[in-house]
Amino acid sequence: MEFGFEVSLCSYLEATTDWILARQLGAAVAEPGNRIIDICCVIPNQSIDTRTQITARSIPTAAIDSAVGPGDAVYWRDAFDCHPERARSVTDHAIEIGFFEVERNGGRRYIRQVARYPQWYDRLIGIENKPDLSRPGNLEQQLRLDVSLGIFDEVVLATESYVTRAHLNRIPDEVGVWRFDPQNGDRTVIREPQQLPTTETGVELLENHSLKTDIALITAEQKQRKRTQLAERSYGKGWRTYDFPACVHGAAEDGALPYCTHYGCLVDASTDCGVGCPEFASADPPAVDTAAIRDDRSPWVHQPDGIVRTQSGLDRFF
Ligand code: SF4
Repeated sequence: MEFGFEVSLCSYLEATTDWILARQLGAAVAEPGNRIIDICCVIPNQSIDTRTQITARSIPTAAIDSAVGPGDAVYWRDAFDCHPERARSVTDHAIEIGFFEVERNGGRRYIRQVARYPQWYDRLIGIENKPDLSRPGNLEQQLRLDVSLGIFDEVVLATESYVTRAHLNRIPDEVGVWRFDPQNGDRTVIREPQQLPTTETGVELLENHSLKTDIALITAEQKQRKRTQLAERSYGKGWRTYDFPACVHGAAEDGALPYCTHYGCLVDASTDCGVGCPEFASADPPAVDTAAIRDDRSPWVHQPDGIVRTQSGLDRFF
């Protein structure tokens, strides 16, 4: 149920906003696996056009935070404050995806950014999906973590359930609430989210004991780095990270959503389909070009032209 709800909400947001969306990203800092946000929404600003021209893939924060700028090329080993193997790996990757360009001098690689990395987003919204509020799991604890940590500007609980006053009283006041009907794409704002303090030190709740809670203090700088990482991961990854059913009943619904024609519903092929399903009949999955659909429906650019630079600094090496 939650998978169908989640991808339906992503499809709805993609159709009604210019946001960059991704699913299932680690949203904590001290222990990133402690908090997986269901949907990360990145609200872009006008610099998105520069970002889209650099690369369709995620740019690693280690490359963004390095001493490699868009001006004079620097020797790659001098540009990182980490183990040389890690520096080499980040350099190779940044060159491969088109964020760094390389110049050679005497067998050494000198690198620079193809364009100054743009601050291309204004806000991040985290959405926690809980279609059925009668089965909340650890919802309250997750939302308390989001609010005390303040990585997202806003956090929203999305549900299909009728929301009562008792439900609202159980979640932090700062958290917004949407009611969303995945069948007809109706979204009702039950409560607006409040701005969270993203530029102040945050508190990451780690583990609850009977008499105390372990915490980690996360500085504003660490939070900013995490926000950039979330924005970049969202840009490169997107939300259609699922497979389509390799079954004669498998299909792609409008927006490239994985659908089962036998049961008449969206399916998570990784868990719903296969020999465990009584109606499974092996076949090729439906051919769907998810990258082309994402390119068409969102600001993400699948195959950017790239940024052409003048090579004015090159001659001094030869
Ligand atoms: S495996 Fe089952 S759930 Fe999946 S598409 Fe086939 S019939 Fe539908």
